[in-house]
Amino acid sequence: MANDIEYPILTLEPTACVADLPFIDYQNNTLFIDNVSTKTLTQTYGTPLYVYSKNALLANYQAYVESFNALNDVHICYAVKSNSNLAILATLANAGAGFDIVSIGELARVLKAGGQAQKVVYSGVGKTADDIATALNAGIGCFNVEAISEIKLISEVATKLGKVAPIALRINPDVDAKTHPYISTGLKDNKFGISHDNAIEAYRFAKNLPSIEIVGIDCHIGSQLTQIQPFVDTLDKFAKLIDELFAIGISLRHVDLGGGLGVRYTNENPASVSEYANALLPKLLDLQERYGLGLHLEPGRNISANAGVLLTNVDVLKPTEHKNFAIVDASMSELIRPALYGSVMAVIPTDLANDTTPQVWDIVGSVCESSDFLAKNRTLSLQVGDTLAITGAGAYGFVMASNYNTRPRPAEILCDNGTHRIVRERETLECLWQGEHI
Ligand SMILES: *Cc1c(COP(=O)(O)O)cnc(C)c1O
Repeated sequence: MANDIEYPILTLEPTACVADLPFIDYQNNTLFIDNVSTKTLTQTYGTPLYVYSKNALLANYQAYVESFNALNDVHICYAVKSNSNLAILATLANAGAGFDIVSIGELARVLKAGGQAQKVVYSGVGKTADDIATALNAGIGCFNVEAISEIKLISEVATKLGKVAPIALRINPDVDAKTHPYISTGLKDNKFGISHDNAIEAYRFAKNLPSIEIVGIDCHIGSQLTQIQPFVDTLDKFAKLIDELFAIGISLRHVDLGGGLGVRYTNENPASVSEYANALLPKLLDLQERYGLGLHLEPGRNISANAGVLLTNVDVLKPTEHKNFAIVDASMSELIRPALYGSVMAVIPTDLANDTTPQVWDIVGSVCESSDFLAKNRTLSLQVGDTLAITGAGAYGFVMASNYNTRPRPAEILCDNGTHRIVRERETLECLWQGEHI
């Protein structure tokens, strides 16, 4: 579908692009990540290369903590799926974050990185009995339950293990998140959650099952939302449901509004975390006062996206009659968002000193698919050997990378105020056929 989208010519001013990216800037014409030169990094580690700023990550996390500090009981559960590198998880765990997981693999990563099971919420539509048992034995904080059959299964598994499972029901509020259809999850016909109309019935059902402790109400309405209204509409709907639940003797301890707040990739204008908080706080304070409800949030992209870039080298310039192609050493295998969703991500030079005449380029990889593009119709001054940076690549970047075309996945680097360390080695070819047999 991404090929059906029209891509107008986009001319981005590199310094303006990085102006609102914390801890990413140009110093003497060279792009720096958290005060580390991208030139040093590419000379040391090669390209393609994922580079993250530890301080940007922490600042993005702290924005949530500070914006909601009027509430007594707030749990910022970072969505592990947006970037699950152990060093990223450890950084956030040390800062006090909780985690939203969607698989047992992600739970294992959180524990390995030093995160606390008690601060984990477990979302996802297809939990098996084994998954549930593993999470119960680890002692996670809450299951975000997506179906009646799942409540039953959790009850059975918990009873067998002699444990009590804390659960929140993921209720589909049927609000339009006004985002890309593939990343919108709160509408009636999405596969996620329990429908708003069946919510009360589902809670009654849960209340009568053994080994279940109802602790919350949960949702996640979509990703890359730039407007606040869908979140406010959701909370309004939830406030009514919460009244009904308490009225029939079902009490909750928290409301979980999921993740989904968007970021600026090129020229979007997303609400800030403080605007988001200010819009929600009056109602949340009211729920705290009346029912003692705490708040869970599950931000992923908003914490990790703008803390990372993907560096890629220009290998071949191929002007044709209709289009100019710049073939780079990253591709849809390393960064699939443009090919999968038609995402428009900023591509900027790492060296501003280049003075060739700007032309309009498609930035493409060398994977054998026409959908293998990273950006289309970009005005850039390019020469073979240049290094480009794709910003906003800290979320849904490396985690969605594959080995398609037998391409080893890139190394990942974490920068911290002038220092850096490798937090994942570049894959070798041998890694790629490990476990295969002739
Ligand atoms: C993906 C996901 C998130 C995080 O979404 P972002 O848009 O990255 O903030 C949070 N909660 C659930 C249940 C998710 O599936």
